[in-house]
Amino acid sequence: MNLEKFWLSSSKYSAFKMCRLKFKNMYLTGKKGEFTGDSSTYSLNKFLLSSYLEYHQKNHGLFFKAPNFIKGLTNRLADNNLNKDEFESAKSLIEGYITEMEGRSLKLLEANKTLFYNDKEIKIVVKLDMYIESKTGKKSVVIFKTTNNYDIPENLYYDFEPQLIKFVVEDNPEIKPDYLEIFYLKFNQFIKLDFNKIDSSKVKEVILDMYSEIDKEYLNPTAGPYCDWCDYQTDCPEWKDDKYPEIPFKYRKDKTRYSFSRLSTYLQCPFKYKKLYLDKVPQLPQGFFSIGTTIHAVMESIYSKPQAPDLENLNRLYDKFWVPLGYSSPEEMKEYYDSGKQWLELYYNNFIRNQEWVKAIAVEKYFEIPIGNYFTIGFIDRIHPHKDGTVEVMDYKTNPEMKTTEEVSKDLQLTLYQYVLEKLGYKVSGLSLLFMRFGEKVSVLKNKDDLKTFEEFFIESVQKAESEKEYKPKINEYCKNCQFKPECPLFGKEPEQLKLV
Ligand code: SF4
Ligand code: SF4
Repeated sequence: MNLEKFWLSSSKYSAFKMCRLKFKNMYLTGKKGEFTGDSSTYSLNKFLLSSYLEYHQKNHGLFFKAPNFIKGLTNRLADNNLNKDEFESAKSLIEGYITEMEGRSLKLLEANKTLFYNDKEIKIVVKLDMYIESKTGKKSVVIFKTTNNYDIPENLYYDFEPQLIKFVVEDNPEIKPDYLEIFYLKFNQFIKLDFNKIDSSKVKEVILDMYSEIDKEYLNPTAGPYCDWCDYQTDCPEWKDDKYPEIPFKYRKDKTRYSFSRLSTYLQCPFKYKKLYLDKVPQLPQGFFSIGTTIHAVMESIYSKPQAPDLENLNRLYDKFWVPLGYSSPEEMKEYYDSGKQWLELYYNNFIRNQEWVKAIAVEKYFEIPIGNYFTIGFIDRIHPHKDGTVEVMDYKTNPEMKTTEEVSKDLQLTLYQYVLEKLGYKVSGLSLLFMRFGEKVSVLKNKDDLKTFEEFFIESVQKAESEKEYKPKINEYCKNCQFKPECPLFGKEPEQLKLV
């Protein structure tokens, strides 16, 4: 593929990470898609963005009172295809934004500034929504985000977009920021990153890796919840054999879809569920999540290839996918890092070395299927094919404890996977948990009655979640590591109970 004229941007990179087929259609072949996006959300975002920029440009460093500006916008709000609720929410977002800006009294140095980086190997373009100076003389580059979630600084330092911005800004000496500020439009939230702390040293390597994958044409579709707003869904191979033609895509889109973790969070503790899934408070990184992410990424990478990896290759992937987030100290991180390497070696000795290599039918397989009147979504770590045409589910666990066959047979997540795969036409002959710390596999299989019971349980639980009004906290085995403990009413009132957990 000729990448000579290819200008990389952060949105192109995130499209590549999300789904390579979509990336190819959008940016390499320029294939036309069918617009499936939510047009009113799109207009709301566009409207907010243009209003904020207009506010700063008109204001240009002077106070510009919110009510006057809002008055001027009101007619245009009505012209923008927004329904009453969207109109009201846009109005209050704009008011909130301007109130915050008045408090900050900033000076707009540049708006809509485009910067370039160009060397013999890569070309990058980044767009800065604003370059501002505060009353203390500190400067920030600002980018606006229209996403449905916001994120916390710890994760954002690790994210590729800030690193890419820093990489390009450093090559453009006229912009010298102290901060990178990310503004989440829908939450009226500014997240401020110290520009000096952003590590851009790996940017070029990551981009060259991406180019080499493009050269090898590793550009297959990867389905996920984002398929909802993909303009190429109509003829995407992942959605071609539409499994549920009787339930139109549009209908599915409007439903809340319950992943296993969403539902089990509700059952564990409605208070935590509300925080995470309704208020969309970002989940704080924790070491045991990070090591799990790393191990899953290594497994995903090896089982999507036709040849077995050697141990060296496995270690290289481990370093590539290492997530250094959420560890309480450098010592704890080092301990996890070393342990993770040992688990992979154990896995290699027990499941790869001297064994026939079998590429997976699918890794991180996304599913979205109805159960009763509701929908479930999720990802299955690996679907392993057997010679008799049946499949086995492989699910990686990095838990510190092993489980017995009896315990695994009660695992509802595995039951869900069998339920889903059978609905999708697979014949399932095994549900296996791979305990990475122990190099052990425990397998079970469910019968028709188990699946029926699961179906009823799922429907009842979703009905409960949907009719929930109070979202009371509920003590459970995960309270110990719960990020909402400081604000949890139960914890505040009855710390003694939590000590028992
Ligand atoms: S529908 Fe999903 S899998 Fe298909 S191209 Fe779009 S994002 Fe990729
Ligand atoms: S500490 Fe326990 S009870 Fe409180 S919010 Fe967290 S999980 Fe719920």
